[in-house]
Amino acid sequence: MSASENINSNGQGHQNTYQLLKEGNQKFVKEQKDIDPEYFTNLAKGQKPEVLWIGCSDSRVPANQLTGTKPGDVFVHRNIANVCVHSDMNMLSVLDYAVNVLKVKHVIVAGHYGCGGVAAAMGNQQYGLIDNWLRHIKDVYRLHSAELDAITDNDERIKRLVELNVVEQVNNLCKTTIIQNAWKQRTDLEVHGWIIDISTGLIKDMEVSSSSSNNLGSVFTMS
Ligand SMILES: [Zn+2]
Repeated sequence: MSASENINSNGQGHQNTYQLLKEGNQKFVKEQKDIDPEYFTNLAKGQKPEVLWIGCSDSRVPANQLTGTKPGDVFVHRNIANVCVHSDMNMLSVLDYAVNVLKVKHVIVAGHYGCGGVAAAMGNQQYGLIDNWLRHIKDVYRLHSAELDAITDNDERIKRLVELNVVEQVNNLCKTTIIQNAWKQRTDLEVHGWIIDISTGLIKDMEVSSSSSNNLGSVFTMS
């Protein structure tokens, strides 16, 4: 039984949860060393990931497990509802380092159905500071309001906003000078949009992959 199964099933309070994290670490390290005694020695030598994953903070959408990858394979940035805005120094720093230092070949915006952030952005309830962050998703809604307003089923409308949010965040990434400048220098960098269906575990490619500045629109194209 994993630590998380214990945490979820027995509900013995926060101290038990905390202890299980440490025990989970001990178990993980032992299992890895049993498979490969040099595993951590090799991992400590450095990283050369080819993928940057920008996903949601939701606890159910971990990049490595969902893609069958290992530590060292995926550089990760996560925030609530996988928003990519050009004023977020945290996201921009991760993007710049991944693209220009690590030289990743794929940048993936990974949203997910059942996203609480997207659902909250569709509603009118206040949650606090996060309302300001979720305003970016209300802007996505505004851009696509004709399509979204025509969907009568609320769950279906949220699912579509999850998809459109990923598409618009991909667009936002492509418009950054970081991505545009990288495309001037190399042809092996692609930006993708994915949706994770938590109920199946499967990933849906939104097929909005971009590898050039050709479709950004003149006002966004930087010389
Ligand atoms: Zn989410």
